[in-house]
Amino acid sequence: MNLTDKLKTIVPQLSPVPGGGLLDSDALLQAHEQPAITSIRLNPGKPSPAFEDNAAVPWFAPGGRYLDQRPVFTLDPLFHAGAYYVQEASSMFAGHAFRSLVDRQGPIRVLDLCAAPGGKSTLLASLLQENDLLIANEVIQPRAAILAENLTRWGQMNTWVSNNDPKDFERLPGYFDVMLIDAPCTGSGLWRKDEAAVDEWSADHVKLCSERQKRIVADALPALKAGGMLLYATCSYSAEENEAICDWLCDHLSLESLAIPTNPSWQITATRSAHNQAHGYRFYPWRLKGEGFFLAAFRKPEAAEQPSRREKHKDKGQAPRKSKDETSRWKPFLDNDFSAIERNGEYYAIAAAHTADLALLQSALRIKKTGTALGKIAGKDTLPDHELALSIHLSQAMARLPLSREEALLFLKKEEVRKDNPAKGWQVATFEGLGLGWGKWLPNRMNNYFPKSWRIRMDVR
Ligand code: SAM
Repeated sequence: MNLTDKLKTIVPQLSPVPGGGLLDSDALLQAHEQPAITSIRLNPGKPSPAFEDNAAVPWFAPGGRYLDQRPVFTLDPLFHAGAYYVQEASSMFAGHAFRSLVDRQGPIRVLDLCAAPGGKSTLLASLLQENDLLIANEVIQPRAAILAENLTRWGQMNTWVSNNDPKDFERLPGYFDVMLIDAPCTGSGLWRKDEAAVDEWSADHVKLCSERQKRIVADALPALKAGGMLLYATCSYSAEENEAICDWLCDHLSLESLAIPTNPSWQITATRSAHNQAHGYRFYPWRLKGEGFFLAAFRKPEAAEQPSRREKHKDKGQAPRKSKDETSRWKPFLDNDFSAIERNGEYYAIAAAHTADLALLQSALRIKKTGTALGKIAGKDTLPDHELALSIHLSQAMARLPLSREEALLFLKKEEVRKDNPAKGWQVATFEGLGLGWGKWLPNRMNNYFPKSWRIRMDVR
């Protein structure tokens, strides 16, 4: 059966959308005869002129860009340098909601609960200030590793990775100011990109996803502070996974729905849930340039906080050991202020303001990435970590070796780069001014320190 025929059997089984959010079956079928839209989001921490002039994603104009065709991103050194993230355009609306609704009185703590591979974590990261902290969590271990890799490329020190079940977050009552739950779903909104989601679709699967979505939010919600904001998202068309969940959150967890300001020209479909009139925002590929997506925002009521529990957990964290001497040893590598923390012979940089957070989070969660890994100290030598080369704070004074596109691709394949280079020792290999990784230069060749597990495996010629 071709895609259209498969969809013709599924679409009549989708339940009606409450509050006027018309799910137009004919338009849906027609949209699925068109290719999926390709879009990227630029990294404001790693400015690059590439793609700057492409058409902007209307609801995330600062960084969202449409591409006319899908290039082979693996063969673009700028992709490996973290100059941009390949992200579906509709889901960038989470960034718009965050910017529009976050009410900050000082540094904030943000949890992205279902974060891999990292699209929304890198999006939120770009909207943070230096002393804010983002915990990007992923329950599935191999996916947490991919998440850490993508956040390493993004290059921020205030974006950490944990590998925990949502339930584990009850150990951090009232800790987060903002929580994003981009819940696992049936994925019907991505049918154009992922035909497996068409084959796996069934009314039973919708039910199973909807039960899991409620469980995930209920498990994690104690970690949101009273007055804090929850963003709930799916890439599903099913009302059971969207508006019905909104109703459940209002009825069972006493959340208050928030409206998100939108521009009518964006063609987003605003919905209201059946019982509580909770606001929802649907993205339909037949109305705008993006795939299917749903987002809703909520505030946790003030009365819901339990200060005594929060304080108890707060006291648990003890500042980890840090050495001023080692911090000064790593200072030449980064231009920003940081504290160097040592664990099992490895050093990593965090903001001094996050020292107590580290102790608390390490006692409550399985932390997979903390700040920026600095490297190791071996006698008089410092062995810089790959993460340093990708940091947005990499020192301007650090020795750099600019590579051409061909050389950069050889470097990223972890092959030998032969190049006249009068300077010796550690240098950051760069492409168009952005760090790719470390090389140690000998008189006429370079030892390539690009991580083996990250190397490009496809033919680059
Ligand atoms: N936010 C991600 C992004 O923008 O790149 C996409 C997240 S994807 C929609 C949902 C994630 O939830 C997946 O990474 C999946 O592994 C994770 N997940 C699956 N089951 C889960 C569960 N029971 N609890 C929490 N997360 C779960």
